[in-house]
Amino acid sequence: MNKTVLITGASRGIGRETALKFWREGCRVALNYRNSRQQAEELASELDCLRPGSALAVCADISDKKQVEEMRRQIETALGEVEILVNNAGIAQQKLFTDITEEDWDRMFAVDVKGMFLCSQVFLPPMIRKQSGKIINISSMWGQVGASCEVHYSAAKGAVIAFTKALAQELGPSRIQVNCVAPGLIATEMNGALPPEAIEALVEETPLGVVGQPADIAEAVWFLASPASDFITGQVLAPNGGMVL
Ligand code: NAP
Repeated sequence: MNKTVLITGASRGIGRETALKFWREGCRVALNYRNSRQQAEELASELDCLRPGSALAVCADISDKKQVEEMRRQIETALGEVEILVNNAGIAQQKLFTDITEEDWDRMFAVDVKGMFLCSQVFLPPMIRKQSGKIINISSMWGQVGASCEVHYSAAKGAVIAFTKALAQELGPSRIQVNCVAPGLIATEMNGALPPEAIEALVEETPLGVVGQPADIAEAVWFLASPASDFITGQVLAPNGGMVL
């Protein structure tokens, strides 16, 4: 596929694996990051050396509109207009509900919800003009069923699902599809702070009995970006090992 794709939060984890998948399939990939400059720059330059003009690392805090607008300028100059947007960047936090501060709440919604809103709004105009495009938002199984000690994360990821369904309805007439992937437990740095007992307990509750890998999510995102899913919009695809049915 010969398309320009932006993956937010592509310096590591699910975003990195998704960027690699799209690149291997022939796309031009913009790898957004906020802090992990070295990881993002190294991957982008490696890919760009192998296929010149195919990869760009671009720094932006997705919760800041000016930085998102500047990111659009940089991507369009280097790779052309974005045709597929993957709103992947996110943060998580485990805390008792009574310990969640106003700052914790605001930061969670700024990155996981406002970041998705800003990127979607800023990158939409060329898609509307061309009457073509795909937006894929990364939610979580906790956005579907909620998790104890992750009320703000669950609420934010639930908002991602509602956002997806509403925007899919609004953009359907413009031939733009908006879908969502709601992963289960995936082996990334995001879960680095979880104690081994908590991981074991989650695996035990998962019918397939394993922790998912970033590649499992990259494949789901790829499906929703590919022509194989052209009649699908407003849906939640849930690669979670059967944990949430
Ligand atoms: P991760 O390894 O922690 O990576 C998070 C990525 O998001 C990093 O590339 C990080 O970039 C980026 N990021 C964070 N805040 C940002 C900001 N303000 N602006 C731009 N980029 C920002 O996480 P992951 O596990 O790959 O998660 C990816 C997505 O999947 C998230 O939305 C997460 O909620 C969702 N998810 C994960 C799991 C799981 O079990 N891992 C399960 C369900 C859903 P820097 O390092 O440069 O800051």
